[in-house]
Amino acid sequence: EKNYMKLEFLSKSNNESFARVVVAAFASQLDPTLEELSDIKTAVSEAVTNAIIHGYEYKEGIVIVESRIENNQIEITVEDKGMGIADIHKAMEPFYTSKPDLERSGMGFTVMETFMDRLEVESIKGEGTKIKMVK
Ligand code: ATP
Ligand code: MG
Repeated sequence: EKNYMKLEFLSKSNNESFARVVVAAFASQLDPTLEELSDIKTAVSEAVTNAIIHGYEYKEGIVIVESRIENNQIEITVEDKGMGIADIHKAMEPFYTSKPDLERSGMGFTVMETFMDRLEVESIKGEGTKIKMVK
């Protein structure tokens, strides 16, 4: 059955676990396996963390998470109105990180791609980023 939800919150690190738990609760109506649920939580966690640390660079901003359930699939979008990504192709390469000093490994997008069935990244420099994932 079709369903939809939208969640908005401040770009604070402790809201990452909040977003992950909300999406997992929403996804549970699809009767996912524990592994599928864990994959979804991990992907949401990576996308929300990116919005907070890269999109807003720890400054205050709003992160929007939307999710749609349709045809036994879940679509999740994570959006920020932060700095945006200049070169999406490069950003998505495994091990690429713009913050190596902060002990980032550059594997966030690779993790999202691996754990979800589809990943799309839309971003405009200076305007923000929207990540769409489907499982
Ligand atoms: P890790 O996720 O392993 O901690 P990371 O966040 O640097 O490291 P990715 O999540 O793969 O690695 O992201 C790669 C790069 O893409 C980031 O270093 C950053 O430059 C850019 N990026 C990702 N998400 C955003 C975003 N929401 N806004 C702006 N830049 C982003
Ligand atoms: Mg990341």
